[in-house]
Parts: sequence; C-alpha cells; structure tokens
Amino acid sequence: MNFHVLTLFPEMIRQGMNTSIIGRAIAGGYLSVQAVNIRDYAFNKHQKVDDYPYGGGAGMLMQAEPVYLAYESVEKKIGYKPRVVYLTPQGKVFHQEMARSFAKEQDLVFLCGHYEGIDERVLEEIVTDYVSIGDYVLTGGELPAMVVMDAVSRMVPGVLSNQESGETESFAGGLLEYPQYSRPEEWHEKKVPPVLLSGHHANIEAWRREQSLMRTARRRPDLLKTADITNKEWNQIRQWRKEWKAETGKE
Ligand code: SAM
Repeated sequence: MNFHVLTLFPEMIRQGMNTSIIGRAIAGGYLSVQAVNIRDYAFNKHQKVDDYPYGGGAGMLMQAEPVYLAYESVEKKIGYKPRVVYLTPQGKVFHQEMARSFAKEQDLVFLCGHYEGIDERVLEEIVTDYVSIGDYVLTGGELPAMVVMDAVSRMVPGVLSNQESGETESFAGGLLEYPQYSRPEEWHEKKVPPVLLSGHHANIEAWRREQSLMRTARRRPDLLKTADITNKEWNQIRQWRKEWKAETGKE
C-alpha cells in the first residue's frame, strides 16, 4: 500500500509516520509514505501558494494550480487516477468500515488543507472522498491524514504481527472490545477477574463476549443497532438496562 500525501508541511508527515508499528511496516516494505510538498509546485518565485478569497472574508485560501500540479505529479508517477481523500471538517466522519475500504487500494492520495481551506475548483477536479475525523476544526489536514493512514495501515496484510492482530479489537463485529489485564494478578487491591486465570477457553470467550456487549451498551449504545447480536443477547442487554436504571435513575 502506497500513501501519497499532498501537504505544505512534509516534515510533519515524515516525522509522524516513522515510528513504532507503522515505521516498522515502512522499513519492511509493506507500506510506503511519500510526502509531496505542494510548495514545490508554486508558480511564483516566492513559492507562495495562498491568496485572498474572492468575495472577502477571513483568512487565506490555498490556490488551485499548485495543488493540481502536486496531484498530477503523483498521477504521472503511478500511471493511473487514484482515489484522492481530502481531509476536511465538511467530510463524512471517518470510521472503521471506511478504513477497510481504503485498505483495498494500491495507492491512496491524501490532500491536506491549511489556512481557510482550498479553492473549490481543484477539489471538484481531483477529490473522490471527503473525510472528516470529527466535528471540530483543526489548523491543517496533516494530523487527520495521519489518523486515517494509521487506521488503514493496520488492515494492510503484514503490517500487524499475529500478536497485534486487529480481529478481536473494538468495532470487530460492531462492538467495543472487552477489558484486558496483564501482570500482576493484583494491583491497588484490584484483582484480575478469576475466569481469565482459569485456563478454560470457552468460559473466557463467553466472559469476553458478555463484557463487550455490556461495555458497548453502556458507552456506545448507538453501535448496538448495527452489531451482530443474538435475541438472547438482546434480552440480556434489556435486563442490564433495567438494572442500570434502577441503580442510577437514568436510562
Ligand atoms: N474553512 C474550513 C471550513 O470551515 O470547513 C476549515 C479550514 S481548516 C482551518 C484548515 C484545514 O484543516 C482544512 O482544509 C482541512 O484539511 C483540515 N481540517 C480541519 N479540521 C478537520 C477535521 N475535523 N477533519 C479533517 N480535516 C480537518
């Protein structure tokens, strides 16, 4: 999987993507991250890439042409029109299924805005996906691009070792992950749940499933609607809700 990031701050991408699991995957040849400096495609000697918005208003806009030329350099290099993700608070909010869909691409281009954003005309011409990482406004698209690349990378074969497998993690099957514990068995007078020390795999699986359901029902009830849940489990969730309501007086 090859990521190409169109940015005014290539050093941010290079530094941010070079450590831990992602850095190891790049060194191992499973991923590549190319930061393309949009400023290299400025058409004036001061390498200026922004200008005032027509119609007035606060701030500056990134101009269309340098962005287009930076994109074109990638298209020429790879020899086809790739999927281009513009990171923007106006996009669809990023989620695990989107990451799964991006992970199928061979090349993925990320376009990072700055200042007040980018001239609409070049977005119309090159962007295939508008993606937000949440309902708040950041100063630039570099951190969002790294968030998306990190989540996508974990789904690229070879990036995670077996021990780091993503199959049981939160959102697998639509639920949050169960709580986890490591040594020591007792810490601050809190004991590891005995079932996890029992060595009884079926009981451990049943406990983890129940904890996943309980945690999702409490913290992210919105996920339950699309999760894979049996009728028996739904009855259990209803029962917990009654108990929680009785304890707290809240739904
Ligand atoms: N004027 C723009 C608007 O109201 O939609 C916001 C521009 S923002 C200050 C500058 C850049 O940061 C955007 O072009 C985008 O690339 C990035 N950005 C800011 N917030 C983001 C978010 N929540 N998700 C993804 N990208 C974001």
